[in-house]
Amino acid sequence: MKRTSLNTQIWLGALAGILLGVGISLLGTESAVSQAGLYLAELMGILFIDLLKMVLIPLVFTSIAVGVANLRAHHQMHKVWKATFGFFMFSMALAIALGMTAAHLVRPGEGLQLAMFQDTVNDFQATHVLPSEFVARLLHSLFQNPVAALAQSNVLAVVVFALLLGIALVVGGERYSNILVLLQELLELMLMLVGWIMRLAPVGIMALLLKLAATQDTALLMKLAEFVAMVIATTLLHGMVVLPLILYIVTGMSPLKFWRGAREALITAFATSSSSATLPVTLRCVEQHLHVKRDIAGFVLPLGATLNMDGTALYEAAAALFIANLAGIELNLMQQMIVFVTAMLAAMGAPGIPSAGMVTMVVVLQSVGLPAEAIAVLLPVDRLLDTFRTAVNVEGDMVGSLVVQKLVKGDQHGT
Ligand code: ASP
Repeated sequence: MKRTSLNTQIWLGALAGILLGVGISLLGTESAVSQAGLYLAELMGILFIDLLKMVLIPLVFTSIAVGVANLRAHHQMHKVWKATFGFFMFSMALAIALGMTAAHLVRPGEGLQLAMFQDTVNDFQATHVLPSEFVARLLHSLFQNPVAALAQSNVLAVVVFALLLGIALVVGGERYSNILVLLQELLELMLMLVGWIMRLAPVGIMALLLKLAATQDTALLMKLAEFVAMVIATTLLHGMVVLPLILYIVTGMSPLKFWRGAREALITAFATSSSSATLPVTLRCVEQHLHVKRDIAGFVLPLGATLNMDGTALYEAAAALFIANLAGIELNLMQQMIVFVTAMLAAMGAPGIPSAGMVTMVVVLQSVGLPAEAIAVLLPVDRLLDTFRTAVNVEGDMVGSLVVQKLVKGDQHGT
């Protein structure tokens, strides 16, 4: 009963936020009422995200360490590894293929030229990174001093350290059982805090969406309408057809049942545009509503939040083809394959924070010699697109945890 009412409140909050935001933008952002409304929304939105971020790092650390320690105990670790990475690569490859196919069919950007956006492009300085440098940086960011990583909220490095600690806990066995119990209890406490924070979710989500709707640059949106509509439609296709289909084929779970369990996390991802900030909610949904075991969820979800990004991968590939059209460059087959691979790398390398995909997109563009400055054209519409792609990123992680659980369990029955 209580759960239903929180869900309803979240939906109502989201709806109210969008309507109020549109109202404010019609009123004009200069009016005193609008400014007061925007200020309040900003405060409440930041508070909600800060609270989620507050529990994020201890939650990621404990859930991975405990998850791995328990997995090893069941001798399942290698199966979970393989299934997890297999699923991540497979679903991202499908997303990229979808994005590229759509870009070929719709051919967005034809009829427009980069020169039409010269002002935006001139004001923007892209940081140039070669794909080889990008891979080196990505590898380097994996292994960091854990104290620094924890303090700087470097999720990927925390994940790696917690993985190693989890393995050491198993190898060490009984001798370190006190630490394992300590971590387990810490994890339970963090989940309790997440439960409290979620009571604020309706207001937080309303505030975030209000601000987004009120400050959207509609003029540029119209100019790029075709591209924006194409990206949103294909992202939704991936989220509403491809991912549920994989889930149904592997686990037999109906999409409705999945969405009912997943909606809190999906709306939070949509409103925050951050897979990392949503992670506490994702873990809660998957464990409590979708009944994935804590060991599996604690392993797949934190990894997925930084590495598995279907929505981002789709966007990076589609946007690269769009920019090629704008620049009047025809990409050959080889170059398109490079876009395919670098889009996957760039999505994996993007941290789960707002607009991260925009930054790593430079890698995709440069790999085929497209002008990196052209992403300036996309910046004004990025906040809008980020909502949909983050929701699909998080959906992919949740589907992944269910698929991995089924594959590992299925395997066990077989042997
Ligand atoms: N905002 C996305 C996420 O957190 C990353 C991106 O910008 O594509 O999943």
